[in-house]
This record gives sequence, C-alpha cells and structure tokens, in this order.
Amino acid sequence: MFKAILINKDEQGYRSVLNDVDEQQLPAADVTVKVIASTINYKDALAITGKAPVVRSFPMVPGIDLVGEVLQSDADRFNVGDKVLLNGFGVGEGHWGGLAEKACLKSDWLIPLPAGITPEQAMAVGTAGYTAMLSVLALQKHGITPAHGEILVTGANGGVGSYAVRILSKLGYQVVAATGRPEESDYLKKLGAVDILPRSQFSEPGKPLQKERWAGVVDCVGSHTLANACASTRYGGAVAACGLAQGMDFPSSVAPFILRGVTLYGIDSVMRPLADRVQAWQHLSELLNPEDFDAISEVISLDQVIDTASALLEGKIQGRVVVKM
Ligand code: NDP
Repeated sequence: MFKAILINKDEQGYRSVLNDVDEQQLPAADVTVKVIASTINYKDALAITGKAPVVRSFPMVPGIDLVGEVLQSDADRFNVGDKVLLNGFGVGEGHWGGLAEKACLKSDWLIPLPAGITPEQAMAVGTAGYTAMLSVLALQKHGITPAHGEILVTGANGGVGSYAVRILSKLGYQVVAATGRPEESDYLKKLGAVDILPRSQFSEPGKPLQKERWAGVVDCVGSHTLANACASTRYGGAVAACGLAQGMDFPSSVAPFILRGVTLYGIDSVMRPLADRVQAWQHLSELLNPEDFDAISEVISLDQVIDTASALLEGKIQGRVVVKM
C-alpha cells in the first residue's frame, strides 16, 4: 500500500481525499518510481478542487510534476536508483500523477534529474518555473537581449510569474512586474523586478496600439491583459503567452502584428519534445541557486495538499509549494 491523493467524482460532485492505495491499482507503464517530491500547480489545484474539468478519468491521482527514484524499469534509458523528473504529458489528468508516494510512468515522459539540483529544488521550479524558462528562451531565441529594453511579466506573484521575474533578472534584463497584489512589491523587488505596475492597468479593454514600451513580455494572464501587452510592445518585439489566469479569450486586433511586427509565441509545457525539456532544465539548474528556491517556495506534506489547493485558487499562495513525501 502507498499513500496518495485520490480524486473521485459521484452524484455529489468531486471528492479529493488522502487515501491508502493498493499498489496493484497503479496504471501499467515501463518505469515505477518512489516519489521523492511533487508540487501543486494551478492545474493541480483545479483538479483537486474540481473547479475545472481537468481530470479525464476517475479515480485520479493528481500531480503533473514529480521527482522520483526508479524502483523498477523496463526501459533502457533508466536504471534502478536513477533520479528522474517529470512535467506534464497529461499525467495527473489522464494518468495517475505525482501527489502520491509511488507512480508508474512511461519512460518517454521522463528526463534524468539534472546534476546540481535537488528533488525538492526541482519541484520548487515545477511546471511553473519550467514554463517560465521556456517563455524566456522564446524571447531569447527571438533575439531580445537586455540592451533592447524592459520586459513585462504579468501575473508576477504567481508561480510562473515569480520564476519569470527571477530568471529574467538573473540574465540581466530590466523586469517590470504587473500584479494585483501591490502589497507584495518587496517580494517582487527581491526577485529582481525594477518596477511594479498594478494589474488594473492591463486588465480592461484598451486601444489596439498603445505607447511602445516593452521589448518583450511574458504573459501568464491572457484576455485583455495579453491584448494590452501586445498593443504596448515595441516594434519588432515579442510576447510569450503562457497562461490564462484572467481568461482564455484574446480580445486583440492584428494591429501590433502587422504594423509593429510584434511576434506572439505560444508556450506549451505539456507535450514539449525531449530536447527542449532537457535544454530548459539545464538552464534552470545552472541559473538558479538555493536562495532563489528558498525565496520562491514553501514545503508542505501530502496531508496539507487538499487545503493548500483551495488556498492557491483563492490567490492566497505566493510563489510555489513543494510537496515532500
Ligand atoms: P498561480 O495561481 O500561481 O498564479 C497566477 C497569477 O495570475 C496570480 O498569482 C495573479 O498574479 C494572476 N492573476 C490571477 N487572477 C487574475 C486575474 N483575474 N486577472 C489578472 N491576473 C490574475 O498560477 P501559475 O503561475 O502556476 O500559472 C499561471 C498561468 O499559467 C495559469 O493560467 C496556468 O494555467 C498557466 N500555465 C500554463 C502552462 C503552459 O504550459 N502554457 C504551464 C503552467 C501554467 P498577481 O497576484 O501577481 O496579480
């Protein structure tokens, strides 16, 4: 038996509980791991609370990220004792995930835990930090350097936003953070933001073209915020759209794209090819140090997950939550 968060759905609706589960119930796959650490992402919180239809089959163990130690492997790439890292691939949605003491996973989904980063640190990063890194890499590949000017990060106090601020600042960019929690300005400044703007400046409908300010944008928010960010991006700049915290809509016009040559990059972390994963995690492990993880994350245990998921959706959690098994 092992402990796991189990999500069930019946006539009364969603029910998430911490349960003892029989190992025979683990889904079939070629690698079995002892989970060392996992985390709670926005998507996990939606799954656990049932606030959005994230889960595709029941019962489900949530947890889209994990670091584990291989207990059994039928795959050539991994041996017993290896430490492996997983982000995404529908795990925690359609296949049992990381908020459990054990998991059985497809080897294609796994990468080796990079050297120089502990399991807890990797989960302090999680899909959120990994998505932030993918977003920053998109801006870098576009050719945006610190010399090009300010980078806007929206939803800055969240998991993706916090890492985007920290990573960009470490790379020497001037980061401007947009947030609905101005009382957390000290936290954002500690992460490296040089200026803090109220999120209300972006969240209402705006003009199709606005004063050019941003060399690049990492947008965690979508909706009018993304539209306004595009409208105020400088000629030839780029926007990496990775989130939908305000909404999935995109009430924009083509003006920034056809009149200012602005490029909009879509950032998906879930189905990312292996080479991109390895590259992003290599950068993360080289860029971040223990103080960064401590500043951005708190550690909880499996029995605190359900309450913490609700708090996360209520906007009461800052940065990232690591779940240590
Ligand atoms: P968090 O809940 O940690 O952070 C979201 C942040 O968005 C909040 O902290 C808040 O920032 C801001 N926000 C919340 N509600 C609103 C609103 N109504 N209007 C404007 N801003 C708002 O989530 P994550 O950082 O983990 O994820 C951010 C987004 O990215 C989510 O939409 C998530 O689904 C998505 N995502 C996408 C991935 C991908 O592969 N593309 C991977 C991971 C996440 P503040 O308090 O500073 O205002």
